[in-house]
Amino acid sequence: MNIYSFFLSILCFVCGCSRSCEHVDHLRNWMCPDGRLKVLCTTAFVAELVDAVGGEEVDAIVLVPFGGDPHSYKLVKGDSEKFARADVIFSSGLGLEQAGALSRYLKAASAVEVTQAIEEPIFHEGLPDPHAWLDVSVWAKGLDVIERVLAQKRADKKEFFERRANEKRETMHLLHEQIHELLEQIPERDRRLVSTHDAFYYFARGYLSAPGQQFSDRVSAPEGMASEGQISTRDVEQVVDYIREHEVRVVFSEYGVNTDSICKVIGVCREQGLDVRLAGEYLYSDVSEEKIDYAQMMQHNARAIVRAYMEGNGER
Ligand SMILES: [Zn+2]
Repeated sequence: MNIYSFFLSILCFVCGCSRSCEHVDHLRNWMCPDGRLKVLCTTAFVAELVDAVGGEEVDAIVLVPFGGDPHSYKLVKGDSEKFARADVIFSSGLGLEQAGALSRYLKAASAVEVTQAIEEPIFHEGLPDPHAWLDVSVWAKGLDVIERVLAQKRADKKEFFERRANEKRETMHLLHEQIHELLEQIPERDRRLVSTHDAFYYFARGYLSAPGQQFSDRVSAPEGMASEGQISTRDVEQVVDYIREHEVRVVFSEYGVNTDSICKVIGVCREQGLDVRLAGEYLYSDVSEEKIDYAQMMQHNARAIVRAYMEGNGER
């Protein structure tokens, strides 16, 4: 048992929590060679794609823990060993993992960005928008990258990876259609989304606007593409102007993201006599909860938006 495994054992003993112990056990097993490809993924969304393609041939762990902000994740004790042990490292890419040390580690380790196959990435104010997972059809492009890279590592399993990737493509295609159908319950002119940070441009292009039409004016948020940034009075005013212009009645908080900025927006709206309320359900943007998978997360977002619309805007 090396020092790292010993440390994990102690942590498992001390924590006394079965879920933490499951994680610790998984990490300890991941550290030991067992014939499977050891894959390090920066986020749970990436790991879910990798598991779908790799099946029992891969053993994937997630670097940023549930609830952690992938925009600002700082490496912790033990992370460098994960980089050293991984056979393959997949990141989300498009600037998501932008925090200094993590960004440098990913570059040095030649991590593969699963978003590299996206044909038309969205740029906002000159920067790539990393939130590609919020359009299922776009996120599914990651399967191409993962299938190719895993097959390079295990040429004898090429057909296995190909079959599993095709199966996942089919389920993601159906999910994409389902999200479309859910949101089509809202009249096209009212398909707009005000939330905490600029995470929903891909969602807007995929589900809130007609194909080929302008989509960036379908969403508005006080915070920029990386949540928890500084916001100015002007940022809040711009969102309030948007709400007034488009007669938006309900705005959304995001899971794991501070609600101060969106509450500020509601406060200013009310001062100006605008009837706006916070939706009863938050949306998932950068992170989801451990108890739900990617499909459930996307379904939740679509249904929460429809429910909020039906309860609020739909009554006018
Ligand atoms: Zn974000």
